Amino acid sequence: MLNPATEEPIAELEQAGVEETDAAVARAREALPGWRRVAPADRARLLRRLATLVEEHAEELSLIESQNVGKPISGARGEVGMVAQVFHFYAGAVDKHYGQTIPVAGGVAATFREPLGVVGLIVPWNFPLNITSWKVGPALACGNTIVLKPAELTPLSALRLGELALDAGIPDGVFNVLVGKGSLVGQRLIEHPDVAKIGFTGSTEVGRKVMQGAAGTIKRVTLELGGKSANVIFADADLEKAATAAPYAVFDNAGQDCCARSRILVQKQVYDQFLDYLIEATRGVKVGDPRDEATEMGPLISAQHRETVASFLTDDVHLAFRGEAPEGPGFWFPCTLVEATNDDRVAREEVFGPVAAIIPFDDEADAVRIANDTPYGLSGSIWTRDGARALRVTRALDVGVLSVNSNSSVRVSTPFGGFKQSGFGRELGMQALDGYSEVKNVFISTDG
Ligand code: NAD
Repeated sequence: MLNPATEEPIAELEQAGVEETDAAVARAREALPGWRRVAPADRARLLRRLATLVEEHAEELSLIESQNVGKPISGARGEVGMVAQVFHFYAGAVDKHYGQTIPVAGGVAATFREPLGVVGLIVPWNFPLNITSWKVGPALACGNTIVLKPAELTPLSALRLGELALDAGIPDGVFNVLVGKGSLVGQRLIEHPDVAKIGFTGSTEVGRKVMQGAAGTIKRVTLELGGKSANVIFADADLEKAATAAPYAVFDNAGQDCCARSRILVQKQVYDQFLDYLIEATRGVKVGDPRDEATEMGPLISAQHRETVASFLTDDVHLAFRGEAPEGPGFWFPCTLVEATNDDRVAREEVFGPVAAIIPFDDEADAVRIANDTPYGLSGSIWTRDGARALRVTRALDVGVLSVNSNSSVRVSTPFGGFKQSGFGRELGMQALDGYSEVKNVFISTDG
């Protein structure tokens, strides 16, 4: 494991295989009856304690995440803050996840929310601890036990979280972490007959394999996959505000963000003016040492990933701006703006790096058409001063998470997830609990 900013080794870990995966599933299975019997208030108390321990170890966890992913320390602190909030939220949700009573003839019908059983959680490297918490929080709140597989490149924060869960008093066997390859550990979890569900975040390509593999045992799956989100700027928007915000909606986390608004759609009559503002704002993004408090963008995750990102900048690409990045060790890549059409590769595929495609559009209908012309449907933004238009366009876009006059759409208490090939199922908010429980309907006869 390397620090992506220095290329220095930071840890060497033993890798689990199929045998260790089976053993972890067996441990989780054994812990299940005890965990689902824990009284709701006690389960809530344990989750609350985990949240508090994350807060107490926030600096340690932020440093682990910053070193392992190459994230700027200020961003890592924000993410760890969210992790604590997620556990607080689901601690509070444990005893508010109600069933229903339904009027029926001859008795009473009542629904119960039952845990699924052992759930396998498979997580990517871009927001390792954050995305882990989005799954662990609701899964534990609903009474499931867990086998978590972090990404090969970034397992360190998940391992530490597993230790903190034990310190919080969450019983042994409830929360298991396995470091290993997706093709071995991940694949085994997907096919294992004793795993009831896979909560997966990662690429659409691997998501497809998850779905195929899960079919054998009719496993439940939640898939949070890739994106190619549009940031739609109408001529009547506050252009300066939209342009100042736009770089951070693509270049945050060095563009390695499923919600990256990496297609910037700009209405033709303000295109040139907007591009001037955008270039100016992009020039201002501070790229450099992740340990520096002022740094806004760090390196990419690996040398191999940098090659993939670079492959989008072929000779025929029309570069509008290329920023600066440190020389020397580290997988650096500068902020890059490209003028494009929606048919260009840079506008069709997820770059997952600091490259934004700027695309002109004519009118509202054209904006909606271009924004929807993608296999993905995760996120996006609309910038306009016309409230009715904002509503019309948000309703017309086939995406799961949108923001108007803002690029911020991920919150602990609100649902997150995609349409189309960005996946299905929702994380965060009360909706996530539906993905980690099964509805049981019981009819009780009142006949004498
Ligand atoms: P990836 O799909 O390569 O890997 C994700 C996880 O799946 C890793 O833990 C990996 O080990 C595991 N895996 C790989 N092959 C597997 C297999 N055959 N069986 C089971 N597990 C396997 O993704 P990545 O490169 O780590 O992350 C980047 C991708 O994740 C991007 O496409 C990004 O958009 C997406 N992502 C989506 C969201 C979201 O919420 N929608 C959030 C973050 C990242």
